[in-house]
Amino acid sequence: MTTEHGHPAVRMHIAGEWCQGGTGRTAPIVNPATEEVIGEVPLATTADLDRALGAADEGFRVWRGTPVARRTAILHAAAGLIDERAAEIGRVMTREQGKPLAESTGEAHRTADTLRWHADDARRAYGRVIPSAPGTVLTVRREPVGPVAAFVPWNFPVGGPNRKISSALSAGCSLVIKASEETPATAAALVRCYLDAGLPPGVLNLVFGEPAEVSAHLIASPVTRLIAFTGSVPVGRLLAAEAGRAMKPSLMELGGHAPVIVCADADPVQAARRAAQAKFANAGQVCTSPSRFLVHESLAEDFTAEFVKAAEAVVVGDGLSEGTTMGPLANERRLEAMERLTADAVARGAKVLTGGERLDRAGYFFAPTVLTGVPADADLMHEEPFGPLAPITAFTGLDEALATANALPYGLAAYGFTRSAATAERLSDELEAGILSVNHCGGSVPEAPSGGVKDSGYGREGGPEALDAYLITKRVSHLLVP
Ligand code: NAD
Repeated sequence: MTTEHGHPAVRMHIAGEWCQGGTGRTAPIVNPATEEVIGEVPLATTADLDRALGAADEGFRVWRGTPVARRTAILHAAAGLIDERAAEIGRVMTREQGKPLAESTGEAHRTADTLRWHADDARRAYGRVIPSAPGTVLTVRREPVGPVAAFVPWNFPVGGPNRKISSALSAGCSLVIKASEETPATAAALVRCYLDAGLPPGVLNLVFGEPAEVSAHLIASPVTRLIAFTGSVPVGRLLAAEAGRAMKPSLMELGGHAPVIVCADADPVQAARRAAQAKFANAGQVCTSPSRFLVHESLAEDFTAEFVKAAEAVVVGDGLSEGTTMGPLANERRLEAMERLTADAVARGAKVLTGGERLDRAGYFFAPTVLTGVPADADLMHEEPFGPLAPITAFTGLDEALATANALPYGLAAYGFTRSAATAERLSDELEAGILSVNHCGGSVPEAPSGGVKDSGYGREGGPEALDAYLITKRVSHLLVP
């Protein structure tokens, strides 16, 4: 079923049924490229949430009791459906979130790949047998933690929800997931792939609602055993505190403000091209997006010139239009943030080399922006920009660059460019980040963990570590009856 704007009609999925929810309250879905309302998302009542919790409680028993080979087969089938439907999922995602179609469909295919990794990892949730006294069997078992309450944002509308869903299901957990109200049809399309692949009813429940109301209710419920959140540091802090009050573990994937250190021995042109490509991907709305460019003074001029060239080559437009390489920002809040951060930097003496303003047309478009001379006390240098702003700063010595990089409370991603193995090792040792890329700005891969340190959160997604949060460890010592 589609709306009059050709967008899928959005429903929640609770206890095996697609439903509108109790009150009929809705919020608009806006296409950020046109500012048109293209649909409506239903908002859950407390009674809806209780039904979802009840279903997840029962679904946990069913899923946990399903043989692992069957669980793996269902997850692989879901991955196949995501690949098959990638073109349609991509179109829906671009209409809701704005990113170029190639990025949207690419995200859908990467999501399928991630799911395959988790499907296989379900078979490797090993425990161990520990040598003990004669007549005693001492084992360590790993068991699914139980129903998970998950909360995900709008920047990766299919990849974000899937990281939570595929990790939880691979461990044998059930979920109630609140996906973003701004990209709900994409999340629903993902859930449909799991259901069509044969996931039993109640195992995966999708809700939307007023975020603070939904999270408070789900976190406090005795059914919920783990809280998994991706989003901003302030909201993460709030949810972690609620989880703590309820004595529940949590997984917090929060924001960052990634430094890029371009050392004196690096190739400035190559570094600028790679960094700029990563900067403007998803219009900079990525938690690992490079966002503070610290360049050795001997390379600053060449690096900056190439970066400006790359920024000016970005084709900004509707993500559905051929040739677009950067779409609009996902919502009006981001546009306002870009304007505020740029104005603050300029007021404090920064120079805008290119961009610096919203585009004069409908839609939340902001020009790829490069700034120099941004002082350390400008908001842009300590607040996660989450948009297409690139402040470039020259440094003299590596000690100074490392100190600047580590000065913020964030610790998610960091990047370094150097030809020296010794310098690369120093960056690896000293940068306070959960993710470091040297000589490139590549994204995450399913087989390796992603996550932050300091205010950027705790826990890891991806890699074998992804299962850790979703499994509990149980010691069993069994004295054999003589
Ligand atoms: P926000 O902090 O209001 O919301 C971030 C996400 O958390 C949204 O999906 C929102 O629905 C959800 N949320 C908000 N309050 C919640 C609550 N009480 N309970 C549960 N979920 C809640 O900000 P925003 O305007 O959507 O995004 C702005 C900032 O969020 C960005 O500047 C960036 O720092 C951060 N962000 C980070 C990521 C990430 O991948 N880590 C993704 C999106 C946004």
